[in-house]
Amino acid sequence: MEQDKLHEECGVFGLWSVPDAAAVTALGLHALQHRGQEASGIVTFDGARFHSHKGMGLVGDNFGDAKVIASLPGSHSVGHNRYATTGDTVLRNVQPLYADFEFGGLAVAHNGNLTNAHTLRRALVRRGCLFQSTTDTEVFIHLIAISLYSTVVDRLIDALKQVVGAYSIIALSNESLMGVRDPLGVRPLILGKINRSAEGGRLGNSWVLASETCALDIVGAEFVRDVEPGEIIVINDQGVHSIKPFGRQQERFCVFEYIYFARPDSVVEGMPVYEARKRIGAELARESGVPADMVVPVPDSGVPAAMGYAAESGIPFEFGIIRNHYVGRTFIEPTEHIRNLGVKLKHSANRAILEGKRVVLVDDSIVRGTTSKKIVEMMRQAGAAEVHMRISSPPTTHSCFYGIDTPERGKLLAARHDVHEMAKLIGADTLAFVSLGGLYRALGKPSRDPAQPHYCDACFTGDYPIPLPDTSEDVGRHLSYLVEEH
Ligand code: AMP
Repeated sequence: MEQDKLHEECGVFGLWSVPDAAAVTALGLHALQHRGQEASGIVTFDGARFHSHKGMGLVGDNFGDAKVIASLPGSHSVGHNRYATTGDTVLRNVQPLYADFEFGGLAVAHNGNLTNAHTLRRALVRRGCLFQSTTDTEVFIHLIAISLYSTVVDRLIDALKQVVGAYSIIALSNESLMGVRDPLGVRPLILGKINRSAEGGRLGNSWVLASETCALDIVGAEFVRDVEPGEIIVINDQGVHSIKPFGRQQERFCVFEYIYFARPDSVVEGMPVYEARKRIGAELARESGVPADMVVPVPDSGVPAAMGYAAESGIPFEFGIIRNHYVGRTFIEPTEHIRNLGVKLKHSANRAILEGKRVVLVDDSIVRGTTSKKIVEMMRQAGAAEVHMRISSPPTTHSCFYGIDTPERGKLLAARHDVHEMAKLIGADTLAFVSLGGLYRALGKPSRDPAQPHYCDACFTGDYPIPLPDTSEDVGRHLSYLVEEH
């Protein structure tokens, strides 16, 4: 039986009024490839008709062919990269999802997780809605379809008022490109503007919506601003309009985007991700410095934090591990055995510099502990005299239900062991994580206010700001029934 994961990390990208929108969208999705490597899709609108192409694999695999791009005419578009790490993904789950309505067409791309999707889905199925996929996004499309409001924007607001979760959405209709961030702003979304076409001609009203700012340069766009938590941006030929249908709440941007997920050259809420990582590394050096000969990053995710650690401690930064760039992320491998092999495929020790040295190893996080264990062992095999592991996040003790893929709690090393036990399990001489307070300080906040934390840090604290997913056995059976029917 096919089993689909209920939440996904993803990248979203959309354009309004940009010549060759499909080709430009493919570039934008390529810059957002780190947010999802499993499948990608683009839907365009040429003023009369919508066109769609979706496929499994990387953006280049799906949109590298000029014939595919030529089959997607139009200057308005929405695109999506999907990252699902468990269960089979089938093409019908690949986004953007498209549907025809009485008001015209609508394509929707979604990053994040609706935590009341099962309840809504059950209610919708009872009303006779026929589901084509197992994604949360389709729940959203059905809510728009059954809304009694007439305009697409009013229907969108109606649907948004019924969903609960952490999400960024880009939707394309015949009349507008719409971008939405959830009321707490857990997932990122930014607005950009393109002033010149590839040929250098001036453009008037050309706009970009994207998960991260790193997708702007590649398409020649300028950053305008972050979409605000709970804000709906509607872009049409008259320009950009902002709607805020939700009451104001304390925002809770996902702190793990700063730690690991976002690309280091992106800027979120005015803070460059690269800078944030270096500052966390410096904080780590201040909190748990240790005498050593070199600071070695676990590439690539540990590099900026290791630079910050080295600068703060005065210990030389060295590439003691070399990464093979022709291997996918080890994390996406389905079994423990393959993951173990994957770590070896991906990293090798730079033996010549490690022999007899005391090494501070820096990585961004420990999830299951597979990576750290292998890397520490690799350092020892290469002759390191001491291995001190430093992690630029607090211990990951809780699963994420809001769009970052973490395994169930029982598989999180820090959920079952204290730091001392973890050090033993991964084989390090010492192990230390940045403190929660240190993390907030690094991000420019004086401290973590427990009553109103600035970020969603549930993976480190268990303080979940949005109700958890509404999964129950009953709903589970219901879902299996639906899945088997297809
Ligand atoms: P593990 O080997 O299970 O302890 O995973 C930790 C490694 O996976 C670290 O090197 C992280 O850089 C990376 N990582 C952490 N979270 C994620 C995630 N959500 N998706 C992919 N990789 C991750």
